[in-house]
Amino acid sequence: MATGINQELSFIPAWRGDESLYSWASSFHKICGNGSHRDTGTLLFGAAHACKERNAPTGLHHFVQVTGGSLGEVLQLLRTRCSIGLFIPFLTSARRAIFLDRTNSVDGPGWTTTLGMSASGLSPNSHLRYCESCLNDDIANQLLPKWRWPHQLVGSWVCSDHSQPLKTVIHKSFTWILPDVSIGEYQHAEPTPTQLEVLRKMSLLAQFAAHQEHLDLNALRQSALNELRRQGISSWSHPLSKDRLAGWFAASSLAQWLRTVRSPESSLATGSWIHDLLRGRRGDHPLKWLLLWSVLFAHDASSQRRFSTPWSEPQWDIFGQSSLWVEECIGLPSDINQIILDAKTLADAAKQLGLTTGALRNRLIKLGEFGGSFRREQGIPLRRQRAMNSILKYIAHRPDCTLGDVHRECKAAVSWLRANCPEDFAIATQELRVQSSRQMLLL
Ligand SMILES: [Zn+2]
Repeated sequence: MATGINQELSFIPAWRGDESLYSWASSFHKICGNGSHRDTGTLLFGAAHACKERNAPTGLHHFVQVTGGSLGEVLQLLRTRCSIGLFIPFLTSARRAIFLDRTNSVDGPGWTTTLGMSASGLSPNSHLRYCESCLNDDIANQLLPKWRWPHQLVGSWVCSDHSQPLKTVIHKSFTWILPDVSIGEYQHAEPTPTQLEVLRKMSLLAQFAAHQEHLDLNALRQSALNELRRQGISSWSHPLSKDRLAGWFAASSLAQWLRTVRSPESSLATGSWIHDLLRGRRGDHPLKWLLLWSVLFAHDASSQRRFSTPWSEPQWDIFGQSSLWVEECIGLPSDINQIILDAKTLADAAKQLGLTTGALRNRLIKLGEFGGSFRREQGIPLRRQRAMNSILKYIAHRPDCTLGDVHRECKAAVSWLRANCPEDFAIATQELRVQSSRQMLLL
């Protein structure tokens, strides 16, 4: 039931720190409301049941109108005051277009539907969470308690400020409420110190991700595959194994703790979803990315940077055996490059990489401009350097040698240099030429 006129509120309280939109509305209800939860919903969001939508009320345009935009526009509210803001950077471009379209129209489906969250099967984060220390601070400062936005994000089970687990409120009746020491409980086992640290870092990662404009999921996949390979969980010779990935994740301390969580998220502890996440082309639940990242880069201080700019790391193949690098990215990871150039033949290189020669040749051809001549083109600088080195080394060891000695003793290097880089051969043997011309003069 809309008010019709949608007049601006006569008093608009300011945001209290990093509180969520639901928190703001609950304090408004407590301070300025008439006691009716339905009236508060109608006044603020044009819908009597708005308090049910704790993630993000559908009537955000109404809210922007009655607050005169002074608390932010629709997109800004969703991104920074609603827990579903974390989903926005993870949207695929198609879903993103639908979402942005919806932010511009007054009518339409609810935000969880627009963001495709309903299909995930995981909790849509409708529970409310708080940190006891944060709450005690608010009460000690004689302020109204509040729901902090970072605590409501998926993947946020620990207060990153106090390094302590968050309490969950299973809020059965639909009303506007504020946290209270007596209403929450721990919905999981007490984490060990190691688990606590991983969980704290994951909470920070969730906040970091929510602040990103857009995340490149394809790049994230490549970066994850790269790290899995580096850690020996996948390899060149074996395509990604679903069981191996699942076993690796399930054995992590984070997964051990996740099994104790009394909500649908605990189903992710098996790790059986990782294979699909890495091979998928569509968007997926942000929690999966946060969990994978937290285990994969548990000991890496750059895990946040890797999340926002994964291209800064070398890239590897998404389908294991058949594809070595990203199509759009010309150039090979340096270690692969080296293997190919160092090998005597392409077949040797393919063997070392666990591929068939045909597969490797095809991949090289797909590099475009290099075509099938990759080894020759790319190999020249390397072989030139080697030939030069072997000649210079010989001369250094035999300062009294003649040009004839060099020709005789460094046969392969000389013939290669003379055929490919004759000027380099002249440079390498310059000293000897000067010496021999002097000798000739003497004679
Ligand atoms: Zn706290």
